[in-house]
Amino acid sequence: MQRMTKQRVAILKCLSESGRPLYIEEILSKASLETPQINLSTVYRTLKTLVKEEKVALIALPGDKSCYEIAKKDHRHYFLCDGCNKIYFIHNCPRGLSEIFPKGFSVLGHSITLNGFCVDCND
Ligand SMILES: [Zn+2]
Ligand SMILES: [Zn+2]
Repeated sequence: MQRMTKQRVAILKCLSESGRPLYIEEILSKASLETPQINLSTVYRTLKTLVKEEKVALIALPGDKSCYEIAKKDHRHYFLCDGCNKIYFIHNCPRGLSEIFPKGFSVLGHSITLNGFCVDCND
């Protein structure tokens, strides 16, 4: 149980320190710096538990990709870099959404994923 706790802490730390959502492989490589005995199946199992406990959220991305973030209630969007494949948070909403949906419809929410090149890949 001790080891399990250590791995949970390592995974939560990776996610909160990264400032962006992480793929499972990224979590594994970051977490293994501190907890060398950690492996992919442990990370996977631990993440599954953390998602169930609503401490971590699974983000489904276009094209069968998925990554993880610390569960938060605030509304946000994602930027998927076509160069390095990293996911970034976008904290602003696009304007003018109310102007593009058909008359008589009511929109309850939106989820938008942008793609392109991040600042590192733009160089
Ligand atoms: Zn990039
Ligand atoms: Zn929004």
